[in-house]
Amino acid sequence: MKDTNCIFCKIANGEIPSSTIYEDEDFRVILDLGPASRGHALILPKDHYQDVCALDETVAAKALPLAAKIGAAMKEALGCSGFNVVQNNGKSAGQTVFHFHIHVIPRYDGGPEMVSWKPGEATAEELAETAELIKNKL
Ligand code: AMP
Ligand code: ZN
Repeated sequence: MKDTNCIFCKIANGEIPSSTIYEDEDFRVILDLGPASRGHALILPKDHYQDVCALDETVAAKALPLAAKIGAAMKEALGCSGFNVVQNNGKSAGQTVFHFHIHVIPRYDGGPEMVSWKPGEATAEELAETAELIKNKL
């Protein structure tokens, strides 16, 4: 299903031009307009899913192997030494376009630096209590 008001639906289905690096029946992979580093790509399903919780399982199963394929091609083509696979769900997590997408971000020795999280601390009791809360909902 497509959402007629969704910009990524339009891009994924070729109604809006993009710097496409890969396309198959399920996905279009484009370069991000505001790249975190050279080659920053977005994997867009052609159907509309708001986030990972809404994603069709068959499409989901194809998404991670595709991210690996794109990352491997980036290492060969661009000379990056690594890459991040990032996927945001919800405004608080940094999602700004509410059509599921996966960022594949090349990482180069020497930068650019990217913000990461600072490891916090948790007691064994806190970890156990938190684990219990999540486990009970699975
Ligand atoms: P997120 O914050 O995870 O929702 O990621 C949205 C990403 O889409 C951002 O990195 C934007 O730079 C990128 N973006 C937004 N509009 C476009 C567009 N028209 N073409 C390519 N990338 C886009
Ligand atoms: Zn969409």
